[in-house]
Amino acid sequence: MIRYITVKSRSRTELINITEQVQEAVRVSKITHGLCHLFVLHTTAGITINEGADPAVQRDMVNFFDKLVPNDPYFTHAEGNSDAHIKSSIVGTAKTIFVENSRLVLGTWQAIYFWEFDGPRERRVAVKISGDS
Ligand code: ZN
Repeated sequence: MIRYITVKSRSRTELINITEQVQEAVRVSKITHGLCHLFVLHTTAGITINEGADPAVQRDMVNFFDKLVPNDPYFTHAEGNSDAHIKSSIVGTAKTIFVENSRLVLGTWQAIYFWEFDGPRERRVAVKISGDS
């Protein structure tokens, strides 16, 4: 069974911590040992795992990605959001995390982030937890 996490972004480029929602999906699944697969169902968003403690890291990453891929007038895509499509491909749309004793196996400073590149929008992340209950 696939579950879905809904994410509401408020900025054009934004990192949103979804660790708690993913952990809740693991809890509801009753799977104790296995794998948690996450897949972003969009072409202008992504997913990453990075520091969850200091918000300055998120700000620096948002600013870096906006500098790395500016919305160049050279782009031909009529929708005008090619920068967001490129950022999505750089970051990727899938992650797999181990589950042990019904908990996501993450390092002390690690958090799971949804990457918004063309917000604000409502988004969905598919979650599949496989393993033993
Ligand atoms: Zn587009």
